[in-house]
Amino acid sequence: MQEQYANQFPLQGAEGAHIVILTGAGISAESGLKTFRDSDGLWEGYNVEDVATPEAWFINPGLVKDFYNQRRKAVLEAEPNAAHYALTKLEQKYKVTIITQNIDDLHERAGSTNVVHLHGIITRSQSSKRPSLTYPINGWELKMGEKCKLGSQLRPHVVWFGEAVPMIETAVDICKNADILILIGSSLAVYPASGLINYVPNDAPKYIIDPKIPPVSGVSHLIKIEEKATIGVPMLVAGLMNS
Ligand code: NAD
Repeated sequence: MQEQYANQFPLQGAEGAHIVILTGAGISAESGLKTFRDSDGLWEGYNVEDVATPEAWFINPGLVKDFYNQRRKAVLEAEPNAAHYALTKLEQKYKVTIITQNIDDLHERAGSTNVVHLHGIITRSQSSKRPSLTYPINGWELKMGEKCKLGSQLRPHVVWFGEAVPMIETAVDICKNADILILIGSSLAVYPASGLINYVPNDAPKYIIDPKIPPVSGVSHLIKIEEKATIGVPMLVAGLMNS
């Protein structure tokens, strides 16, 4: 398997280089957390409009709360997989920044130390009034009646469709300063995360690991590794650690 890709790796892995890793739901699929677009546009059987928008929270907060409680339960029961663990090794040799679209905490639990959550994290709640006011959730359940210090109902600390992405400018700056990019398990269908690859310098190698490589255009130095994360990530990391 490794030989198949060996000639494609222009492993310019100078020690100390800045590796930026963009991850999507696909990296957590083999931990048992379902992706979104692999199931015909439904997320665990729900239309995203019904559970992951501000309108859904306004119309039916109980349903939204229950949906995310179930997702939180699944995340707490899941374990990081070989791909999450492999990425932690890169920190021994490189400066590593992970930008994840995932709302799970599997990168952190695997041991990665520099993770930016573009779409929030399910283990925290946030004020309905002031989004920057966030709190840890003890256990899996967020309940109606739990309020922030301003007195408004707490909601999941996730960025819903149609909401601004507060961390996007931070993420753009990180991408502009990448020496190497690794994109893992994202359909690149969710804006503005989908545009981040375009900010990475032209001459930086850009690896994509996904069993179904997403469409990317106008991007140079692209190396496609058409594999599941638990195969492709440890393979690429081994190459980068040996280069
Ligand atoms: P997506 O569901 O749109 O796309 C998933 C991608 O992962 C696809 O390209 C698919 O081919 C790939 N994939 C499937 N199995 C894989 C595997 N074993 N290894 C590697 N890749 C694999 O995901 P997205 O682009 O991240 O967008 C979904 C949105 O929904 C995000 O905003 C995210 O916040 C949310 N979401 C998060 C989680 C999570 O936190 N684990 C799960 C589902 C959805």
